[in-house]
Amino acid sequence: MAINKVTKIGVLTSGGDSPGMNAAIRAVVRTGLYNGLEVFGIMRGYQGMIDNDIVSMESKSVANIIQRGGTILKTARCKEFFEYEGRKKAYANLKSRGIDGLVIIGGDGSFRGAKKFHEEFDIPSVGLPGTIDKDIVGTDFTIGFDTAVNTAVEAIDKIRDTADAHDRLFIIEVMGRDAGFIALHSGIATGAENILIPERKTDIEDIIQSLQEKEKRKKLVNLIVVAEGDDFGGAEGVNRVIKERLPELDTRVCVLGHIQRGGSPTCLDRLVASRMGYHAVECLIEGNYNIMIGIKENRINHTPLEKAAKMKTRINEEWIKIIRVLSS
Ligand code: ADP
Repeated sequence: MAINKVTKIGVLTSGGDSPGMNAAIRAVVRTGLYNGLEVFGIMRGYQGMIDNDIVSMESKSVANIIQRGGTILKTARCKEFFEYEGRKKAYANLKSRGIDGLVIIGGDGSFRGAKKFHEEFDIPSVGLPGTIDKDIVGTDFTIGFDTAVNTAVEAIDKIRDTADAHDRLFIIEVMGRDAGFIALHSGIATGAENILIPERKTDIEDIIQSLQEKEKRKKLVNLIVVAEGDDFGGAEGVNRVIKERLPELDTRVCVLGHIQRGGSPTCLDRLVASRMGYHAVECLIEGNYNIMIGIKENRINHTPLEKAAKMKTRINEEWIKIIRVLSS
């Protein structure tokens, strides 16, 4: 693919934040500077592109951030970018600074925006999967998932202690939007008795029956982990039905919420972010663009942005079986 060589690149974080975004920004900035490029940080995702909120980045701009959650560039959801006029404004601002390449760190929504922008304007982009939800195709890892799931595991372990002390059933809701990966991984890792995920229809009769059977066997049931996008309406919905049907059970609901987005990224997330950030810049330099950088089977993998924007990874059937067997 022959294109004009990039000389000035912009990096932005967009959509939902995730721990490890700072490590990715750092890798992009340092790799860009190492290769003699000028690097700009675009504030608040696409909003900063439209508002011309763009700052020059030096090596020291990204010092002491690898261990920090959140994103120094801030992030936003930007309505104006859905409109052609908004994207045109964004393009004019990039052009006026001579920015000729973009690294977009975000989820599938941000990639849809990137794809649109590329179809209309001539600025090559490379995407990095920054999301705690993990449901992006073309990669085994997304920046932030490992930290989020470890936060959930730590919290659920603590809840189990108190649940056990009182012989209480906790119904715990974890994040993940319409994907069940956080619920699946944290539920298996904490030994939850039931794990409810959007990828599998929730059979409440089955859950009630298994709770009754376990009650008979005097098996303590302490934890049900529910993904926020589960078709039964999250933890509150599940608790309502259990309370109606089994009023003798002592139950509590706990929604873990935004703690899953924050905190210092794990070693894995820092490594994934650093590796992906480095490769994003290498790709722009080589003229390989409109792709998302992923890691599959420990190798760097390129997925067309169009595909990354459209398709989701699914939970493997084997895991669904494992949930059933291990909680019996
Ligand atoms: P995420 O990237 O975490 O999935 P969103 O779905 O909120 O987050 O998308 C982030 C931003 O990407 C949106 O606020 C919007 O500015 C831009 N975007 C998403 N979809 C489109 C689209 N179809 N066209 C243009 N911009 C889009």
